[in-house]
Amino acid sequence: MANLTLEHPALLREAAFVAGEWVGAVAKLAVTNPATGALLAHVPNLGADAALAAVEAAVPAQKAWARLTGKARGAVLRRWGELMIAHQEDLARIMTAEQGKPLAEARGEVAYAASFLEWFAEEARRVTGDVLTPHAADRRILVRKEPVGIVAAITPWNFPLAMITRKAGPALAAGCAIIIKPSELTPLSALALAVLAQEAGVPAGLLSVLTGDAAPIGDVLTGDKRIAKFTFTGSTAVGKKLAARCMDTVKRVSLELGGNAPLIVFDDADLDAAVEGAMASKFRNAGQTCVCANRLLVQSGIYDAFANALSAKVGALSVGSGLDGAFDQGPLIDGRAVAKVQAHVADALAHGASVLTGGDTVSPAGAEQGHFFAPTVLRDVPRDALLCREETFGPLAGLVRFETEEEAIAIANDTDAGLAAYVFTRDIDRAWRVPEALHYGMVGLNTGLISTEVAPFGGVKQSGLGREGSAYGMDDYLELKMVCQAVQ
Ligand code: NAD
Repeated sequence: MANLTLEHPALLREAAFVAGEWVGAVAKLAVTNPATGALLAHVPNLGADAALAAVEAAVPAQKAWARLTGKARGAVLRRWGELMIAHQEDLARIMTAEQGKPLAEARGEVAYAASFLEWFAEEARRVTGDVLTPHAADRRILVRKEPVGIVAAITPWNFPLAMITRKAGPALAAGCAIIIKPSELTPLSALALAVLAQEAGVPAGLLSVLTGDAAPIGDVLTGDKRIAKFTFTGSTAVGKKLAARCMDTVKRVSLELGGNAPLIVFDDADLDAAVEGAMASKFRNAGQTCVCANRLLVQSGIYDAFANALSAKVGALSVGSGLDGAFDQGPLIDGRAVAKVQAHVADALAHGASVLTGGDTVSPAGAEQGHFFAPTVLRDVPRDALLCREETFGPLAGLVRFETEEEAIAIANDTDAGLAAYVFTRDIDRAWRVPEALHYGMVGLNTGLISTEVAPFGGVKQSGLGREGSAYGMDDYLELKMVCQAVQ
């Protein structure tokens, strides 16, 4: 096991949490630090049997949990969230070690992740139904909201805690059980979360965390008819495939998939705010966020000023291993991620773009084996470049020039993705017109940061189905039941 100093060493687990027990396996998966290549730990490489055991245990656990009051369920969720904050530093260190983001960002994610548990602890008490005006004088109609049942969740590596609590919070609040398969790249954060769930009093069997082989575990989670709902955050290609399998047993499906966010800077924008917004949206988590600006569309009149101001800020970002210092940017998750950024840079340069800063891999001292790419700004990127058509998922800002508002909207909407978009303008009419015209689930207006537990998060088109967080986020975990009564 890695030499990772923690105040609560039991948070670092090399066992999976299945049906209320910590279980091992002969077959193991290695977890490594993307900044150094160092081995951190081994986790069990589980398969279908463990997934079935988790489902088996979830059946009675969910029934008992659903009978509790919302207040009682909320109390457990609240304790779980408080424990996350109490162990914020340890959770952040585990996350930085396996995922790579700078420690300051990891601490931020712990707080963000805990905020969903706090929020849904409160929402648990506010699940109310309706009494409808009936269609006939001798009828009464009641609408109840009931938990959907057992939920299966598959989550990605880029936000190893928050993508779990954004699902587990509403699931448990609603009275569901949840079986989680975290990314094989970041299982340690998920297991630490399970340690705290157990400490908080989440009943045995209600929550399982399965580490291991995605395909056989996924087959059970998408195919077992006892699972009522499947919720997935990850790439569009995998999400589509798994969602299709869920239809054999007609599961409820929620999908949080990839984005291709435009960040539009109009001539009338506040230049400093636009640059700040682009920095926050593009370079957080080394550009590995689903909502990060993927295409920076900049109007001609402000183009040079924006390009110069942005590249000065980006060129000043420090890069290194998050556990070794307070760097602004960590490594990418693996070599494939670096290769994708390289391909997008090469394609843009071949089609007339030029480098303002960065443009290549870097090897910070002491982290030569890491997967680092320099924070990069390219100018004069053609609007049909690869980086405009695909999610780069790396620290690459490509600037595309436009002339008119109509042109910007057309470029922005010219994609199958529809997750987040950003608009920078000081014209109050445009501030209504453009967000209304954008075919996206979320729009940041004069800000590059939009994620919060109080607002619905999710996309349109091929970016997903359903919403997470906020009061709306409960709906995905509740079923409506109508009772129609004859009254004499
Ligand atoms: P990914 O699709 O490769 O993996 C996501 C999860 O699916 C992982 O747990 C993986 O093990 C699992 N998986 C892969 N193949 C599987 C299979 N055949 N059966 C069962 N499970 C399988 O995605 P990733 O690289 O981990 O995450 C990055 C992607 O996630 C990006 O596209 C990003 O935009 C997206 N994302 C979206 C949101 C959102 O809220 N919309 C949030 C974060 C990330």
